[in-house]
Amino acid sequence: MKKTLITTLRNKKSSIEEYRQAADLLGTVLAIESDALFPKATVFVDTPLMHTQGTAFKYDPLLIPILRSGLCLLPPFMRFYPKASIGFIGVRRNEETANPELYYIKIPAFTPETPIFVLDPMIATGGSATLAIKKIKELGASERQITLISFITSPEGMTAFQKECPEVNVIIAQVDEGLNDKKWIMPGLGDFGDRYFGTVNPL
Ligand code: URA
Repeated sequence: MKKTLITTLRNKKSSIEEYRQAADLLGTVLAIESDALFPKATVFVDTPLMHTQGTAFKYDPLLIPILRSGLCLLPPFMRFYPKASIGFIGVRRNEETANPELYYIKIPAFTPETPIFVLDPMIATGGSATLAIKKIKELGASERQITLISFITSPEGMTAFQKECPEVNVIIAQVDEGLNDKKWIMPGLGDFGDRYFGTVNPL
């Protein structure tokens, strides 16, 4: 399933409807995978026939998409965790230094138990995700409560990220071959945000 959805995302001939649908379905698959990391509580419910034991999420998570591509992961994760609180982090590349820079952050209060999902479909150098998680840690989070959710990563981006954030959990659909000299993931899928949001000829 993941491989067929990644193939639709890679295909430059995919229509915007096909592209968005594949991104949404892949996000749903990763949201289902995230369930394994999620603390559960035992609850009791009455069926029409008897009292029985069941399972519920123990905490509501905090979802933090990295703007703007991370927004694509918000609808599937909100469907799966409808009581999640939501924060936003904006990171852009400084064209002079090539380093990632924070331009926006708005994060609701969380506790040491709150599972935090950082959403970013493409991890190229790992710089944006590392900076976003550094800022979340400055607000009091521990790495162990954070999970990075991504569609495609480069091997070098993942190595760099895991060196900086060794205790952050990662859920990734695909590790690609590498980066080209312009830091695009190869074979990749091009610019994720432009394709998902339909940004042709940006002004
Ligand atoms: N972001 C993208 O959208 N694509 C890449 O190849 C790398 C970063």
